[in-house]
Amino acid sequence: MENKFIIGVVVEHDHGEIKPVTYEILNAASGLSGLVIAYYFSEIQDIDTKKLIDNGANEVKVFTNPTFGEYFHETYAAGLLVEIQKSQPDMVLLSSSNNGKELSAEIATRMQVGLATDCVDLQIDDNGDVLVKRPIFSGKAFALCKLKGTKPYFITLRPNVFRDEKLENTRSGIVKKDQITLPNVPQFVDNLVREVGADLDITEARIIVSGGLGMQNPENFKLLEDLAGVLGAAVAASRPVVDNGWQEYTRQVGQTGRTVSPDLYIACGISGAVQHLAGMSSSRCIVAINSDPHAPIFSIADYGIVGDTLKIVPLLTQEFKNILGC
Ligand SMILES: Cc1cc2nc3c(=O)[nH]c(=O)nc-3n(C[C@H](O)[C@H](O)[C@H](O)COP(=O)(O)OP(=O)(O)OC[C@H]3O[C@@H](n4cnc5c(N)ncnc54)[C@H](O)[C@@H]3O)c2cc1C
Repeated sequence: MENKFIIGVVVEHDHGEIKPVTYEILNAASGLSGLVIAYYFSEIQDIDTKKLIDNGANEVKVFTNPTFGEYFHETYAAGLLVEIQKSQPDMVLLSSSNNGKELSAEIATRMQVGLATDCVDLQIDDNGDVLVKRPIFSGKAFALCKLKGTKPYFITLRPNVFRDEKLENTRSGIVKKDQITLPNVPQFVDNLVREVGADLDITEARIIVSGGLGMQNPENFKLLEDLAGVLGAAVAASRPVVDNGWQEYTRQVGQTGRTVSPDLYIACGISGAVQHLAGMSSSRCIVAINSDPHAPIFSIADYGIVGDTLKIVPLLTQEFKNILGC
């Protein structure tokens, strides 16, 4: 099955800074015995492609166009469509980030091909069939899907799940740079306002400190910010916290918020409703702090602390400071 499949990987980056999830996707792709092509859309040609090759790309195709400085689905979709027609990949892998989900949905719809989102496993079986595992029923179960029909298959992979860290500095690969002329693309957004000092994206964070209504008021979230600062973590929240305006929607975890899979999820004053669990139950280690010993969150927690989170979080912060020497 050597090089039977052509696997396209869309590089996600923020002004040239490649997002860690791209390396995870390359790791996943390189385990599939195919030709892995990384598609990099950029406004400049001079970019560092070595790490993409070290992480599993056999080829890096850099496409430049003045419009690629900022991600807009209209221009990226137009560019990706042009390239897909040229390189005819069997599958195209993207991140299950907001951009990845938007871009994959748009192109899959336009090409009338299938899309599997938020996958947590990806394999090619002995018959050459592509198998993916993805959550269903708000994460309460997983479906193992065999992809059939017209190619390419579009697949988005959940961040933080495919981390293999098998970096090989000795790998070699081909880099091709090409200016791309886009068809006349109607662009509906002509000005993007960036949030200055935006926090660590919760979908990419390896540690998350998350607060629920048990935090009592918005001011108490400072306790979580302090703990997150010591651990290099992101702060997240349950939905009512966001509905109350205590935290931004970008921090909401759950069925109607983000899905996260960090190494460590510390749930503070969160009851553990199914809609919240839908967004965080695939975390590798869950620590729950709740004053109610019967809170449902304890049923999925690896470690549980029964007590007042407003007292326990500062103790944890101090203890981690001592251990980490900061
Ligand atoms: C269609 C739909 C979609 C939804 N989507 C989401 C979603 O995406 N994300 C989400 O989170 N929810 C979602 N919800 C809401 C969900 O059902 C719950 O209402 C919500 O998750 C509860 O949030 P909470 O745990 O912060 O609050 P609560 O359920 O009120 O729990 C607060 C917890 O804090 C504990 N507590 C109180 N004081 C302290 C203290 N001092 N120290 C320690 N513990 C304390 C209490 O024992 C309690 O367990 C959705 C609901 C619906 C119907």
